[in-house]
Amino acid sequence: MLQSACDLSFPQLQALLEEWGEPPFRARQVWEWLYVHLADDWEQMTSLPRALRERLAAHLPLVSPRVLATQVSSDGLTRKDLLQLADGETVETVLMRYERRRTACISTQVGCPIGCLFCATGQAGFRRNLSAGEIVAQALHFARILRAEGNVPADRPLTNVVLMGMGEPLLNYEATLEAVRRLSDPQGFRLGQRHITLSTVGIVPGIDRLAKETSPGGGPLQITLAISLHAATDELRNRLVPINRRYGLDALFAACQRYVARTGRRVSFEWVLIAGVNDSPAQASALADRLQGLIAHVNLIPLNPTPAYDGKPPSRQAIAAFTAVLERRGIPFTVRLRRGIEIQAGCGQLRGVKRET
Ligand code: SAH
Ligand code: SF4
Repeated sequence: MLQSACDLSFPQLQALLEEWGEPPFRARQVWEWLYVHLADDWEQMTSLPRALRERLAAHLPLVSPRVLATQVSSDGLTRKDLLQLADGETVETVLMRYERRRTACISTQVGCPIGCLFCATGQAGFRRNLSAGEIVAQALHFARILRAEGNVPADRPLTNVVLMGMGEPLLNYEATLEAVRRLSDPQGFRLGQRHITLSTVGIVPGIDRLAKETSPGGGPLQITLAISLHAATDELRNRLVPINRRYGLDALFAACQRYVARTGRRVSFEWVLIAGVNDSPAQASALADRLQGLIAHVNLIPLNPTPAYDGKPPSRQAIAAFTAVLERRGIPFTVRLRRGIEIQAGCGQLRGVKRET
């Protein structure tokens, strides 16, 4: 589905311009306008002949996504936008500023077919896959905003991208990979692959496929893989994350081992902590057992409450008891600050609010 200029790969752009009788250097020029200078209007591409700009404008829409709603956290550091796509569907995308990092958390699907109990996106069901251009456009959107605000290096407005917004990236594999390649293109947006994280609920064939991808230089892809685990026993994970009935923990960890063996990259594990559900020292201990021998890091995220799930985030004491086990077992972990909770930064939550109003 071709919706905008961002849906074209470089070879596709080359082919189009060649068909129009343009000289060979044009494709590179247009590409740089799109991904280096972040143009969002053909008219801005002043080094192109006027006739070509008009022809491009007539054939290929180049529009920034329409922002339907914005929420900014009280400290001003996190911003969440609800974006409208060409067909009227909506996705959420989030910008987070840390000390030296400016991270876009972007979506890969409208909704999600997996249906994790605690997730607002999953609760709302699945609508459709995003195209590669729609995925990339979310990063460009924030890059433009940051550049316009100033105080950021002009050639590096965003420092990181995490594919952790709405949707399951490995169920939209081709478009997601194309977007990763586009964002890390050394002659385009130039984000280092190590600055891109892909978060998956654990689609085993997708993980194996990802492990086999190569970089333009020849070696394996250098992106970080994050696995949303949330439970270390099949009995509990089957309840929280329904896809576990298809790809159980043994199969998932075997795929992680293969991924680490092939890529040499550390894997991250996400664990949404839910009071009385998966925050027990016994689960922490089962998690430590599972992680033996794997180069891994655990991100603990206290639950962001959602309307259709009555779970709560654990108390500080419960979190301390959980992390004490990981510490004792030598498992590296981070407890994520609950930044942005007041802007409903849990995925799918702004879209939910907007639909209710
Ligand atoms: N589908 C992918 C990526 C999108 S979800 C995946 O599941 O990994 C991104 C992260 O947000 C996941 O780790 C998910 O578990 C987490 N998340 C979803 N709902 C949440 C909530 N209510 N509170 C905290 N984290 C949540
Ligand atoms: Fe989908 Fe991820 Fe939400 Fe689960 S947590 S429903 S996989 S978006």
